[in-house]
Amino acid sequence: MTASIIDGKMFAKNLKEEIARKVETLKINHNLTPGLAVILVGTDPASQVYVRNKNKSTNAAGMNSFEYLMDDNVSEEDLITKVKELNKDPIVHGILVQLPLPKHINEAAVIETITPEKDVDGFHVINSGLLATGGKGMVPCTPQGCIMMLKNHLGNLSGLDAVVVGRSNIVGKPMAQLLLNESCTVTIAHSRTKNLAEVVGRSDIVVAAVGVPELVKGDWIKKGATVIDVGINRIEMEDGKTRLVGDVEFKAAVQRAGAITPVPGGVGPMTIAVLLQNTVTAACRLLGVNEPE
Ligand code: NDP
Repeated sequence: MTASIIDGKMFAKNLKEEIARKVETLKINHNLTPGLAVILVGTDPASQVYVRNKNKSTNAAGMNSFEYLMDDNVSEEDLITKVKELNKDPIVHGILVQLPLPKHINEAAVIETITPEKDVDGFHVINSGLLATGGKGMVPCTPQGCIMMLKNHLGNLSGLDAVVVGRSNIVGKPMAQLLLNESCTVTIAHSRTKNLAEVVGRSDIVVAAVGVPELVKGDWIKKGATVIDVGINRIEMEDGKTRLVGDVEFKAAVQRAGAITPVPGGVGPMTIAVLLQNTVTAACRLLGVNEPE
């Protein structure tokens, strides 16, 4: 058996087109242009690329994009002051502070300053709480993108056995919560899990969010399972060049899975698309207008 490939690029393209249509409707019907503000501290090259892509995609969807670049040694106080300013700004509906932040800044303190309604990354404790209790908050973009692809591919997820490998606050835990909300039977695995191969082997859905290249071996995968690979790892090859691989041993997994996301081109492209979707949702909720279909 060879797995079908879940094309995240195509999925994200369609979602972005749908968002652009919603933005157009909001402009015409409500004179509302959703606006996303992104704060980048420092000059980390990977973060710079993400922020540039976010800016491009936001503009392409017809939305306003505001970018704030801050020096590596900006104080926590100054960063928090900027966030508070954006909280009050009526043309900003979504605020994202690019992580990681420099060591001298307390990330949690900064995130907790963002108004939960504008927290389009969904990292604020109020939003984590709402996700855990079935409320209407902002859902973190990467797991939300994963659940959208899973539902699109499998339809109803109810009753399926799912494992999430990784328990970070930004991917693993919200992913597990979303799967639970879809009535999956969810196992969360992590670095202390005993016999990961066996846990993965009994799962109909495998979500890998670890950050270890090809940790999840292809022959662990249950035949026909759906595999979502969140990992993005840059590895060096023998010829000195580098390439991106996921947390799943793709070549072998593709022989057993029913469907699998590739790296690159799987989960990655969905994250930005969902960020735009969250900004549209935030704008509609803040202004009390119905989100266009
Ligand atoms: P973190 O480092 O915050 O968390 C990694 C998790 O993996 C931890 O819970 C850790 O367990 C677990 N883990 C580490 N080693 C093992 C192991 N040997 N066996 C089982 N579990 C293990 O990472 P993130 O959640 O932030 O990111 C995970 C991956 O997803 C990364 O590759 C990252 O680049 C990628 N990513 C991709 C995004 C996208 O848009 N596609 C967005 C965000 C992240 P423990 O808690 O016990 O230490």
